[in-house]
Amino acid sequence: MTFVPSALLALFALTFCGIWGACRIAVPDHKCNYLLIYGAGFLVFSMALFSQVAHLPPDGGYNAMISGTLYIGACLILVKGVLARSGQDFPVSFYPVALLAILVPLFYFQYIDKNLIVRIYLLNFGMGAIFLALAGRARFLRYGTVTDRILFWLVVALALHFFLRTLLTVGSVAAIYNLPSTALLSNFAASSFWNWSKISVAILGAAVGLGLLTVSGADIIMGLRSERDNDPLTGALNRRGLDGEMLRLLARSSQAPVSVIVCDLDYFKSINDTYGHAVGDAVLVNFADVLRKSVRSTDLVARIGGEEFVIVLGGMTVENAYLFAERIRKAVQNRHFDQVDSDQIITCTFGITRYRKNEDLWAAVKRADEILYAAKKAGRNRTYAEGIQRPFAA
Ligand code: GH3
Ligand code: MG
Ligand code: MG
Repeated sequence: MTFVPSALLALFALTFCGIWGACRIAVPDHKCNYLLIYGAGFLVFSMALFSQVAHLPPDGGYNAMISGTLYIGACLILVKGVLARSGQDFPVSFYPVALLAILVPLFYFQYIDKNLIVRIYLLNFGMGAIFLALAGRARFLRYGTVTDRILFWLVVALALHFFLRTLLTVGSVAAIYNLPSTALLSNFAASSFWNWSKISVAILGAAVGLGLLTVSGADIIMGLRSERDNDPLTGALNRRGLDGEMLRLLARSSQAPVSVIVCDLDYFKSINDTYGHAVGDAVLVNFADVLRKSVRSTDLVARIGGEEFVIVLGGMTVENAYLFAERIRKAVQNRHFDQVDSDQIITCTFGITRYRKNEDLWAAVKRADEILYAAKKAGRNRTYAEGIQRPFAA
């Protein structure tokens, strides 16, 4: 039974490596190296626990220093993994500084001023502080996806656990602390601190492992879903993504009006011909950014063709959608796109229709496309909307 917790942690290490391998084969684009870092963290965590319960090395002082180093190392590796998941990291110096900030005083209270209680505080509070630093550095996760938020609170719970558990159980060590040193060792082994440490390390390791596995699984599924539903160039929804999100938008908007806008860049072929396809791509990316930044988080932006986009605005009448499209049209006309000559003006044309209850989205898109075509024929760089006959010179 003694070695079950460390074997369990080693199993988590293997599992993370396995998922990493599967992820690399199945989704080559998905950045999954952080899974390997989690695996390394769990392996070192398992070695730390093993060294403690197997009394390897047998010398008490060496054992405390080596298992302490491994515990802190495991925490730091997990910290690196959690940040790597979001493409972030601490400055390189954080890792050796954090390790030494705990190890040097640990050494002092092990060999120079022997004090078990201080060492317990140092190691546990030190690990808690490492995870608190992580929570501070990764606080952006609080505003991210559901899995980001779960991960953030998992880190906070982990950090607080080190403080709470130590405060609640260290008293049992203090009670036996004044015993002669031989009795102290055997009493320490039976103390509730040590017993709770072993149990909580096992439960904690399993909980953190399961938590990280769940979050990683959800990350991979969300990554695949995003690849399925989004255009790789601009990140806007693709046709399939638009179909799925439209159902959600309609469910939210039930009785409210919904407007469908189709917009198309003017003379885009000449941008490609003048500056090359790569610049054309960059203009598309910038244009999609303008659209995405202009809409509310509940609206939809999709790229449905080369340089043709659909915007769906929930709870917005055609009149308001017209004003909205005009704002974007003027912003694009006045915007300088970095990749092209400074005197190159890029414009776009809009066609807008009202979404009819229960109709197929693509019927509304076709109608908006016909309105767009009329606007193109009238000279481009303008907005035409169903029921609003205001053809004007741009
Ligand atoms: P109009 O004002 O009538 O819309 O003229 P246009 O030149 O924008 O339209 P047209 O349909 O003649 O040409 C569209 C061009 O868009 C042709 C194609 O090379 C380019 N295009 C389509 N998809 C992409 C893409 O992914 N990247 C780049 N760079 N160009 C693309
Ligand atoms: Mg065009
Ligand atoms: Mg087009």
